Amino acid sequence: MPIYEFQAIDEDKSCEYCKSGFELLMKFSDPHLVICPKCGNQIGKKVSVTSVGSSKSGFDARAKAAGFHKLKKLGKGEYEKKY
Ligand SMILES: [Zn+2]
Repeated sequence: MPIYEFQAIDEDKSCEYCKSGFELLMKFSDPHLVICPKCGNQIGKKVSVTSVGSSKSGFDARAKAAGFHKLKKLGKGEYEKKY
């Protein structure tokens, strides 16, 4: 489950709670929070600390960076025989 960090967009109008930012654990199915639950001013999502399967290209890039190799199918019906 991802943890979202929220912070006030307009710090002048915000309360102490959202001015310094706060973290919320949210389900993917939960609606995204757009206003502070305390003062009702607009807040923005800062970072998601954990994200699961965000995008395929992103995963490939991360896997490459981590030193993983992707196996490629050579062609139709072409596989390397191991035995
Ligand atoms: Zn607030």
